[in-house]
Amino acid sequence: MIPPVADRFVAGEHPAQALEHARQLNERDIGAIMNLLGEHYHERGPAEEDAATYRRLLADIGRSPLDACVSVKPSQIGVQVEEAVFRENLREVVTQADRHGVFVWLDMEDHTTVDATLEAFCDLVVEHPDVGLCLQANMKRTPEDLARLADLPGKVRLVKGAYDPPPELAYREKSRVNEAYRELLEQAFRTFDGGVAVGSHDPVMVAHARDLHEAYGTDFEVQMLMGVREGAQTDLARDLPVYQYVPYGTKWLSYFYRRLMENKENALFAARAVVSG
Ligand SMILES: Cc1cc2nc3c(=O)[nH]c(=O)nc-3n(C[C@H](O)[C@H](O)[C@H](O)COP(=O)(O)OP(=O)(O)OC[C@H]3O[C@@H](n4cnc5c(N)ncnc54)[C@H](O)[C@@H]3O)c2cc1C
Repeated sequence: MIPPVADRFVAGEHPAQALEHARQLNERDIGAIMNLLGEHYHERGPAEEDAATYRRLLADIGRSPLDACVSVKPSQIGVQVEEAVFRENLREVVTQADRHGVFVWLDMEDHTTVDATLEAFCDLVVEHPDVGLCLQANMKRTPEDLARLADLPGKVRLVKGAYDPPPELAYREKSRVNEAYRELLEQAFRTFDGGVAVGSHDPVMVAHARDLHEAYGTDFEVQMLMGVREGAQTDLARDLPVYQYVPYGTKWLSYFYRRLMENKENALFAARAVVSG
């Protein structure tokens, strides 16, 4: 069972709980991006197991009336095992998603995996357009990667970046990452047909996206994490497509720890909950 406090950020250990959370989100006019927790697998077995779990989840979503999609981590389906294993698992997940009419996002992880993730995505999206890729604004290479995606089908999710790449590859100062994010949003709205996802809780970036939509007409959606700015998610859903990233599964502890560490408000929230019993 997910203990109180952690259950603000994680929907449950079982798919049924995550699907129930998605149903409740849909009642607030918010779509769900389901994420089975798991990452950094170095052996084939767990990567294949999680790919199979995703295939079952996709069938469950497809048979339901839910507005829900999935988001998969490359290192969860084998990118650190062998590129061929990753590609095979990804292809099977996306083929199953096509069968059930469900969209698949591919998360972007640390800098060592960016090439393999981007190449696999570019090959796959030609045959399976209902897929999207996450790109990170802190990575200096991202404007070029984004330019490459603009000629392809599929969607792009822009995030500021949750990893800590070496300084020669990435911007470190928050203000520089914010500037890069603004520029990338502009580039995406100007060059993309497929649709842009603003994967950010930052109200300044959401406002910027609204202005860019006015200027270029490009479709966009806002994506935020479960448990973060929930009120803003409900408010934004009144006039924008909003999707919430919904992690679930037994491997919730490290995800919960990361949420606490990245934000003072979350750490205080947890500390207050512990003190008040
Ligand atoms: C849907 C989604 C998918 C993501 N996928 C990836 C991915 O595939 N790869 C990757 O590297 N990163 C991913 N991220 C994480 C992302 O890179 C950032 O680390 C994270 O979103 C924080 O950046 P921010 O844009 O929200 O802005 P920030 O500048 O960090 O925050 C702006 C404001 O939002 C609020 N806020 C932000 N984060 C939190 C929080 N955790 N708790 C409470 N308040 C908060 C605060 O009010 C803060 O002032 C994803 C994020 C989202 C929302």
